[in-house]
Amino acid sequence: MTERVIALVDAGRRKPLPSAAGPAAGMMQDRLERPLRDLRISVTDRCNFRCTYCMPKEVFGKDYRFLPHEQLLTFEEIARLAKIFADRGIEKIRLTGGEPLLRRNVERLIEMLAGITLPNGERVELTLTTNGSLLARKARALKDAGLRRVTVSLDALDDPTFMAMNDAEFPVAKVLAGIDAADAAGLAPVKINMVVKRGVNEHSILPMARRFKGSGHVLRFIEFMDVGATNGWRMDDVIPSREIIRMIDAHLPLDPIEPNYPGEVAQRWRYRDGSGEIGVISSVTQAFCRTCTRARISTEGMLYTCLFATSGYDFRALLRGGKSDAEIRAAIAAVWGARDDRYSEIRTAETAKQRKIEMSYIGG
Ligand code: SAM
Ligand code: SF4
Ligand code: SF4
Repeated sequence: MTERVIALVDAGRRKPLPSAAGPAAGMMQDRLERPLRDLRISVTDRCNFRCTYCMPKEVFGKDYRFLPHEQLLTFEEIARLAKIFADRGIEKIRLTGGEPLLRRNVERLIEMLAGITLPNGERVELTLTTNGSLLARKARALKDAGLRRVTVSLDALDDPTFMAMNDAEFPVAKVLAGIDAADAAGLAPVKINMVVKRGVNEHSILPMARRFKGSGHVLRFIEFMDVGATNGWRMDDVIPSREIIRMIDAHLPLDPIEPNYPGEVAQRWRYRDGSGEIGVISSVTQAFCRTCTRARISTEGMLYTCLFATSGYDFRALLRGGKSDAEIRAAIAAVWGARDDRYSEIRTAETAKQRKIEMSYIGG
């Protein structure tokens, strides 16, 4: 069983570029009239955690074959591609993985990306999502390299629950130290992502809310998703965001607030006593595909237009095949023009079993 799953998860299935060309320059829209605004780049498929909902040990064990180094996009390739995307309208870049801080010299990549200017003359907004394990050590260097902000994942405040979820015996205190270091380095406001799984960490919802209320950090609760093909997702394990809000509101009264910008993934709520805000990301119970402006580049340079994709477009082949920037720009326009993804709107127990690309490979 395990072997079969390994064969599935490391196959980056390719599809040919669409034949219809997109607009050569200017604003692009997909088939549902959504622009391309955000690029997520996975810089490694490796991780020092084995979160049960993302890289379960039974699959990502000692025998699992991660990508060999020569298959990863180099920093130069990533920077070239990111610049071409910036020319095509993206405003934000998020580095992710796997655990992005495990990629050697990631600060150098950050320096290269932070220098990208957009057609309007502004600098691209560069952020990173991390499990926080190396953050205490690296926060200052990341800031100095030009990173704007970080999102840190933390699923509980007590070690038994957190360790059961990260499956790597990693203690809470070290992640908290990472959050403090990020704050002190000016990578603020720090966002904190908590994936909520029924029967596993729902008892941590209120303690997490209390811990970060008034801290200036923004805690966001994420519904457990059926990403990839290995995490054994069942609808019964999902705690709908509205239930989370009810639980918190009963003790710490909340009011809804407007999004910061159209298409913001998290719905925002403010503590009535003025001590900050929280967010909920309801990808399962209130799909937000209609405003989804995100594209993703995998560690080996495949372009995916949906987190739940079953195949992607091989942009590494274009980069290494001598294509010009203009040709790659045209390829991006063609892919985006053909996009009609809306997986979360059409999710069922059946689609959840599809052979989707793993989140540690495509980037969260
Ligand atoms: N390793 C980094 C981290 O954990 O922050 C970055 C990559 S991780 C794949 C990005 C985000 O995806 C994390 O916040 C993680 O909690 C979230 N995530 C992973 N698997 C998930 C799932 N099945 N459902 C919801 N969120 C998930
Ligand atoms: Fe690693 Fe992040 Fe996935 Fe956890 S969620 S296994 S930290 S990539
Ligand atoms: Fe975007 Fe796909 Fe998620 Fe819908 S399911 S919000 S299209 S990534």
